Amino acid sequence: MARTLADARRWAEHGTGVCRDTLGSLAEADFAAPSLLPGWTRKHLVAHLAANADAVGNLATWAATGIPTPMYSSPEQRAADIEAGSRLAGSALLEWFERSAGDLHRAWDALDESAWAASVVTAQGRTVPASESPWMRAREVMVHAIDLGTGVTFADLPADFLTALGDDITAKRSGVSMADHPDVLVRPTDAEGLAWDLPGADPGSPVTVTGPLAACTAYLAGRGVEGLTATRDGEATPIPSLPAWL
Ligand code: ZN
Repeated sequence: MARTLADARRWAEHGTGVCRDTLGSLAEADFAAPSLLPGWTRKHLVAHLAANADAVGNLATWAATGIPTPMYSSPEQRAADIEAGSRLAGSALLEWFERSAGDLHRAWDALDESAWAASVVTAQGRTVPASESPWMRAREVMVHAIDLGTGVTFADLPADFLTALGDDITAKRSGVSMADHPDVLVRPTDAEGLAWDLPGADPGSPVTVTGPLAACTAYLAGRGVEGLTATRDGEATPIPSLPAWL
């Protein structure tokens, strides 16, 4: 099932709403608490999300004008901006989040068909059509809404987004060495016919990991194994850890 530009824009909006709701419920002191990402407070994460909206907005500018406008001026600048943002008040971060997300969605509204088809370069150096950028943004706001650590889980996200995320991660993981891992087949129990194959060192005898779609997607995204079980040749087996994929 191929995702469309309209899907990605809908998910970007949905994820922005989830972040907005969860951030709006936080007291000032809650912003300084750790996120679920190692070494980052929630403030770091909100600064990253706001800076990401500005950065993805740069790609919209690039697509609209044809003038190369990279997401970030450098990896060092990107890190420095997140660090600086982490020292802002929660209310200021929330304002930046809202302003940057609003600007981004307005910039997207202004793009015509030829602009969406224009080539832009991501922060990872991939050349993609601008129409790929709402998906990049959707992934950020949806997954980091969970990483904020306020109790939002993958089960709170739309099933069609989870399916698209699983497809995307599986495609990305196919370029990552699984040489030290068994072949893993991830099969959601609540999504008819859906299975993600991660070829490993031993394709003859895959480990089949099963559980709800949300738990399967969390596993693929490197965010835990809760709610999953694994079997190999019909016998229960530990759930294999997966290599980093980003
Ligand atoms: Zn991110």
